[in-house]
Amino acid sequence: MKINKHYLELENSYLFKTVAKKAADYKNEHPEADIIKMGIGDVTLPLPECAVKAMGEAVSEMGKKETFHGYPESFGEDFLLSAIKSHYEKIGVKVDTDEIVATSGAKEDVANILDIFSDDVTVLIPDPVYPVYLDTNIMAGHKVIFSEANGENGFLPMPDGSKKADIIYLCSPNNPTGAAYDYDSLKKWVDFALATGAVIFYDAAYEMFITDDSPRSIFLIPGAERCAIEFCSFSKTAGFTGVRCGYTVIKKELTSDGVRLLDLWKRRQSTKFNGVSYIVSRGAAAVFSDEGEKEIRENIAYYRENTKMMTEAFSSLGFTYYGGKNSPYVWLSCPFGMKSWEFFDFLLEKCNVIATPGEGFGSCGDGYIRLSGFGTHEKTREAMERIKRVCSDYTLK
Ligand code: PLP
Repeated sequence: MKINKHYLELENSYLFKTVAKKAADYKNEHPEADIIKMGIGDVTLPLPECAVKAMGEAVSEMGKKETFHGYPESFGEDFLLSAIKSHYEKIGVKVDTDEIVATSGAKEDVANILDIFSDDVTVLIPDPVYPVYLDTNIMAGHKVIFSEANGENGFLPMPDGSKKADIIYLCSPNNPTGAAYDYDSLKKWVDFALATGAVIFYDAAYEMFITDDSPRSIFLIPGAERCAIEFCSFSKTAGFTGVRCGYTVIKKELTSDGVRLLDLWKRRQSTKFNGVSYIVSRGAAAVFSDEGEKEIRENIAYYRENTKMMTEAFSSLGFTYYGGKNSPYVWLSCPFGMKSWEFFDFLLEKCNVIATPGEGFGSCGDGYIRLSGFGTHEKTREAMERIKRVCSDYTLK
């Protein structure tokens, strides 16, 4: 048999698994340790009530002959697409329902979209960034080049004429750094993509966390309809990490040699995906109702309190950090001259706090760690107290 040898080029263990194993090993050796997890970007608040109610009603419908639903629509139920369309309208973006494809999540989408591109593409990936972009391109055997994000560019790399690619990944607000592009910077990327014939994969999974006037969709930039694909998700917006629902937007204007990329994506989806379940679709649509938006704003405000506690603690320690403002993540420059995994071990052993080492998101992430604001207030406060106690002592040594 012949396997896909590119899988052998992947790092042995996926970042979060390595973190989980280190934490489990530590717990085995120190069963008494009260470990606070601030590593994985999973949510902790339960689903918004409106989504629970809508899904409950949908379950009842499924249990009755008259209202039972079989396979869902491949590209999304009409009521869900309309809800997503109206969400876009609220942020000033006009999108037709047939330009939206509902899916089971943004992770799947950023991976699966590669199916519609040629095998010999070159992709430009920010470093550091959500590791799925890199791994999926390694799996596909694509040529990967990186745009370096660092303290100097505020973790927002800009187009560089020497780095031309067929596909440009942008993640804004960024996971892990929390940095978000403003209108002018994003426009430079759109202009660059149009000038070079590239397509931008725009991951807006954290758009709801934006607090300033950074664009919440790439389609707010003129010309993006001809060069961008947007990925979004209910995961962080509405706590759907375990429910699974996302959406991809491709405007009809995005073409290659007269072929609409939207049509290719739909062709791919109708062959390989059987649609978002009716129950989940009802829950997701409820999230974008007026009542739902109110509830999710409250949840996001709760997480924002956590990032505020974190940034206040780090400011009081004189630490350098990024993010936290437009994002549930705080990106901390490791103090005491430590590298990422070194500071990870330090936090685990001295504070019993788990963070995510920055280098797991790319080599430019070395020297940083990511802390997540998705925990509870109590745990976040406790973690920050421990870090303040240990680190202020440590500085004195
Ligand atoms: N995109 C980014 C940037 C993420 O950080 C994540 C999850 O952490 C995802 C996509 C995955 O979203 P989903 O849960 O919809 O698959």
